[in-house]
Amino acid sequence: MIYGVFSDVHANYDALRTVLKHLHSFRPEGYLCCGDLVGYGPQPNECVELCFALPNFKCVIGNHDMSVLDRLPVAWFNSSAAEAIAFTIKTLSPKARSLLETMPLSLDFGDITLVHGSPRNPAEEYLLTGEQFLENADFWKTQVCFVGHSHVPLAMSRAGEKFPEITALRHGEKILLEPRTRYIFNPGSVGQPRDRNNRASCGIFDTEARTFEIFRLEYKVQKTQELMRRRGLSELLIERLGNGW
Ligand code: ZN
Repeated sequence: MIYGVFSDVHANYDALRTVLKHLHSFRPEGYLCCGDLVGYGPQPNECVELCFALPNFKCVIGNHDMSVLDRLPVAWFNSSAAEAIAFTIKTLSPKARSLLETMPLSLDFGDITLVHGSPRNPAEEYLLTGEQFLENADFWKTQVCFVGHSHVPLAMSRAGEKFPEITALRHGEKILLEPRTRYIFNPGSVGQPRDRNNRASCGIFDTEARTFEIFRLEYKVQKTQELMRRRGLSELLIERLGNGW
């Protein structure tokens, strides 16, 4: 089965459409998303509705989604993120809100687990180190776990009892899954990349070929930035989109 994999859309509709157009060319039978459909960006309703119209769409809830639904205190966030959450609450349609309400904290099926932050703390932990991989090892059961939250495309792997390896993933990089090895993949962020590369990030997971491949795609960053300015979102958020940080 071929899955399109993405995360951290953050209400960036233009980036989302670019990513979905690319993923669609692989004829995926399903889509996996690690949460944060909203927050930061200008078009929450459009993003939520487009995602939920995808075939076989599986998505877990992210910390921004939770805060918009009043399930995580706004005090958790810095001031520009908190302002964007207030904007999202004001803007969100009843339909988009009810779709967000359906997203669970974690999902597992077949060989795959989905969480936003980490298996032991899906809402909050940024999973970035080998030590964290080990600390999380007993909190998920499958061979592969997809996470988001850090907005950095990463492959983390642990062969047998060895110390985990961590690889930053670049455009076109394809990981071939080995038996007796567990993987945590972060597909990077669609709507607000943070690895000094402003291109939207996504991946393709092929369960038969046992591969995960990452893609970075150019989209109309300025168009999203202009819309953010018109909707009164913070200059800091607008600027970071251009810098990919
Ligand atoms: Zn995020």
